[in-house]
Amino acid sequence: MKTILTGDRPTGPLHLGHYVGSLENRAGLQREYATYLLIADVQALTDHADEPELVRRNVVEVALDYLAVGIDPAVATIVVQSGVPELAELTIYYLNLVTVARLGRNPTVKEEMQQKGFGADVPAGFFVYPVSQAADITAFKADVVPVGEDQLPMIEQTVEIVRRFNRLYGSTLVEPTALVSKHPRLPGTEGQSKMGKSLGNAIFLSDSPDVLSKKVMGMYTDPRHVRADLPGTVKGNPVFSYLDAFDPDEAAVAELKRRYRAGGLGDVAVKRRLIEVLDVFLAPIRTRRSALARDPAAVERILREGTARGRAVARQTLAEVRRALHLDR
Ligand code: ATP
Ligand code: MG
Repeated sequence: MKTILTGDRPTGPLHLGHYVGSLENRAGLQREYATYLLIADVQALTDHADEPELVRRNVVEVALDYLAVGIDPAVATIVVQSGVPELAELTIYYLNLVTVARLGRNPTVKEEMQQKGFGADVPAGFFVYPVSQAADITAFKADVVPVGEDQLPMIEQTVEIVRRFNRLYGSTLVEPTALVSKHPRLPGTEGQSKMGKSLGNAIFLSDSPDVLSKKVMGMYTDPRHVRADLPGTVKGNPVFSYLDAFDPDEAAVAELKRRYRAGGLGDVAVKRRLIEVLDVFLAPIRTRRSALARDPAAVERILREGTARGRAVARQTLAEVRRALHLDR
């Protein structure tokens, strides 16, 4: 059986971008692959060092999101990163296999540093997080990593580290492949960046109907579409990107786009349709989520058992790595 590993940073609850970018694939494949889902709390601290309580709280929120969208803890393993210190040790070894120059060229880290206003004062842990992700992926010997587009440079760097390691020390690590979904970069409600937990532009899987409706009504559309009778632009209009991703009735979406382009269809009407579609999608997720949230002890048990199973796998890989590095005395 092949192995899947993916991770999410517990910097907030999960959003629509996570669902179409990666969660849907993970839930769909969990019975065909040995599936590990890593809640990356140690990585979250690399840019949230001053908010450990926020990170701790969101470990549970992310776990609830997993379970609510259909991740089944009887087949998939949910692992809390801080419970697997072997990952930190692997990171230290891999840091010798990348250069500072190579890390500085990682386009996603560059973009995120800009968004966060980091210059030369970037926390060192944040700057090297692609290496800690290589540790996560290889510790579980993952073959496939379902990710959004922003994570492709991380998989590329992981492959480089794996090749370098195997060339220097003998074939030990497994080379992973990224699995990108049909919607690899869902835009945020402001229509600019990708939807992101930390960017204030996300619709969360746990948003109430009220919050959902407010967020959709406030969405960016086509700034030149100031009156319903004017023709509007669909390209780059996030309301239509969300309909493409979530409305099961493709013909109806095509017809809405036609009417919007022709003129005569207002933004409010399209947004109402989107609210309806998202409410239908989110309703069962909300129901499952609130039922699970009522039993925090059960969620903690799932996390504890998953972390123990995950740690056993990582320990095995670390032993092989230490042997390859001649550190096994
Ligand atoms: P943060 O702002 O804290 O970085 P995030 O929203 O970017 O949060 P991550 O935990 O960094 O979420 O990403 C988890 C996974 O979800 C990654 O595989 C990432 O590529 C994917 N993902 C995140 N945002 C999107 C999006 N807007 N569209 C598609 N996939 C996404
Ligand atoms: Mg991110």
